[in-house]
Amino acid sequence: MRVVILGPPGAGKGTCAKIIGEIYGIPVITTGDMLRASVARMTPIGLTAKSYMDRGELVPDDLVNEMVTARLKEPDAKGGFILDGYPRSPRQAEALEKILKTSGKKLNHVLHIELEDETIIDRLSKRRSCPKCGAIYHLDNKPPKALGKCDACNTGLVQRDDDKPDVIRRRLEVYREKTQPLLDFYEKKGLIKVMRGDINLMDLPATLKRVLNSRVRTKSHD
Ligand code: ADP
Repeated sequence: MRVVILGPPGAGKGTCAKIIGEIYGIPVITTGDMLRASVARMTPIGLTAKSYMDRGELVPDDLVNEMVTARLKEPDAKGGFILDGYPRSPRQAEALEKILKTSGKKLNHVLHIELEDETIIDRLSKRRSCPKCGAIYHLDNKPPKALGKCDACNTGLVQRDDDKPDVIRRRLEVYREKTQPLLDFYEKKGLIKVMRGDINLMDLPATLKRVLNSRVRTKSHD
C-alpha cells in the first residue's frame, strides 16, 4: 500500500497518516517532522531548511527530494508507505514518479483532505505541541489538563514558530501556488480520494477505511 496525503496545512494530514499507518502496518514518512528533526540537530540540511520553514516557504526541492529518496530506500518502506507532506511541488511529484518507476512500484491512493481557510487559521494559531513527546493540543478544543503542560510527560508546551498568523497565511498561499496543481496531476491518473478535514476523531478510522476502499472519487460526507 503506497499512499500520498495532500491537503492544506492544518487539514489533519498527520492524524490521518498515523491512523492509515496503523490500519495497514506501514510507515508514515512526514517530511515536516524529518525537517524539524534536522533543524533540532543542527545538521547541514536543518541549517538550510530553518530559514525557509520559519517564513512558511517550501524548503528547496532538491534538498527534500534527496531526503525522501534516501528514506524510501530504507527496508521498512519496501512493503509500502504513507507520504505526509510530500510531494508538495510539481518537481517533487516528478521526483517521486522517478523513484517509483525505478523500483517498479505505483501509488495506490492520493488522499486529498479538504478544509476551509477559516478553520485552518483557528486550528493552527491555537495549536500547541509537546517538544518532548510530540503530543498535540488545541487551546479550545483539546486543552491540556494543566495549563501549558503536556498531559503525558508534563513538559512545557510550545507553539511552532510557523504557527504564527502571518506565517500561516503564507503557508496557505504557498499551498495554493505550489501544491494544489498536484491535485490535477493525480486526478488525471485516477488516484484522488477526497475527504473533509473536520471529521470527528472517533469516526476517522472507519471513514478512512471507507474512503480508501471506494473506487470512485468520493466525498466522505456523501
Ligand atoms: P503543514 O503541512 O502544516 O504546513 P509541515 O510540518 O508539513 O506543516 O511543514 C512545515 C514546513 O516544513 C513547511 O512550511 C515547509 O517549509 C517545510 N516542508 C515540509 N515538507 C516539505 C516539502 N515536501 N517540501 C518543501 N518544504 C517542506
